[in-house]
Amino acid sequence: MAAKLQPIRGTRDLLAEDCRAHARVEQACAEIACRYGYGEIRTPILEMTPVFARSLGCATDVVQKEMYTFEDRGGEQVTMRPENTASVARAVLSNGLLNEVPLKLYYAGPMFRYERPQKGRYRQFHQIGMELFGVPEPTGDIEIVAMGADVLDELGLMADTRLEINTLGDTESRTRYREALVAYLQQHQDALSEDSKDRLERNPMRVLDSKSEADKAIVADAPLIFDHLTDDAGSFFDSVLAGLDALGLAYEVNPRIVRGLDYYCHTAFEFITEKLGSQGTVIGGGRYDGLMEQMGGPALPGVGWAGGIERLAMLAGGGDSVERPIALVPVGETAEHKALLIAHDLRRQGHRIELGYRGNLKRRMQRANKAGASHALILGDEELTRGVAILRDLDSGEQTELSIDRVSEGLPRRG
Ligand code: ATP
Ligand code: MG
Repeated sequence: MAAKLQPIRGTRDLLAEDCRAHARVEQACAEIACRYGYGEIRTPILEMTPVFARSLGCATDVVQKEMYTFEDRGGEQVTMRPENTASVARAVLSNGLLNEVPLKLYYAGPMFRYERPQKGRYRQFHQIGMELFGVPEPTGDIEIVAMGADVLDELGLMADTRLEINTLGDTESRTRYREALVAYLQQHQDALSEDSKDRLERNPMRVLDSKSEADKAIVADAPLIFDHLTDDAGSFFDSVLAGLDALGLAYEVNPRIVRGLDYYCHTAFEFITEKLGSQGTVIGGGRYDGLMEQMGGPALPGVGWAGGIERLAMLAGGGDSVERPIALVPVGETAEHKALLIAHDLRRQGHRIELGYRGNLKRRMQRANKAGASHALILGDEELTRGVAILRDLDSGEQTELSIDRVSEGLPRRG
């Protein structure tokens, strides 16, 4: 016998309940996007590899270790998108949208990263996200953060999450800070994890974000970016925080929030929960003013976030259970044929109808209960000759007779 076919490690099938929970997160995102006037964008899952390699930064974990990259049949190096900001930026360039700023976009869809699978971390996962292009002012950052909070609020998750925010400054601030940070980390080089030794060479700010306990102890006394900000970068951050204060959005300034991708500057933030163990970041984002140029386009500032649908769905669940159906229960051959027509008719009128394919009264009633039906509409041959059917409330057991010709009027209306 052929070997059993398995899903690829780190990927999973979303069954009905998962799909409901995912759809709820996507709907919350679409709803908030609509309130702020953001339009949806759907970019291809496959892109030319340089779309990501050029934008995310060569020294990032995503580009170094996590990308699904392969050569297609035409010999082209292609990558399954590990995130969507670079794709959206590419789409802005490809579609000549540069002059339509401010450009307000949102998306939802699958992303692919070759990571070690664990709870809340998969190789195919899904993100919702918002991107705002063409707004260099702190107002953009404030709006984007507020939209993250609004999506969480829409999902009833405000009490389960907290906002942590940091600034990465402008280029000059980061150059100054990098020097101070590298000097400090070099003093502790021997005690750093292997990964962080490597980061120290390539991308020292990523050490701040390390999950290793040894690194965390060293990072605790590392110099802070706040002491190296230019005046402009400092006042930019102050304005963002003042905006959040004005909106009554609580936050914590956390200098360790650096974000994994190279294209960030100024604001970096995460919405974090304690309820999912170590995979606690549900939304992460920030400002990426240099991205467009890095991709070969003109300078165009941007700010945005991405949220993990799996993690948000785990927290929020599927919401109210779906509406209960009405089960049609024919008894006898004539009734069975009639039931088919009645079911068809009722479904066309918008009712949710369960009609079993076979079985006697007992089996059919069992299935009606299993389907979670609120009522059974029982069609017996005897009742049919009288032109009636019996409607039984499956919770109370109460029964009424309905005229076959006007069944729809007697059924509970859809809520
Ligand atoms: P982490 O530090 O958890 O690896 P990240 O910085 O790589 O996160 P981003 O690239 O900012 O994550 O993606 C935004 C959000 O997408 C994350 O906060 C998380 O909720 C979700 N996410 C990222 N990677 C995965 C994954 N492999 N599986 C499930 N969700 C993910
Ligand atoms: Mg990651």
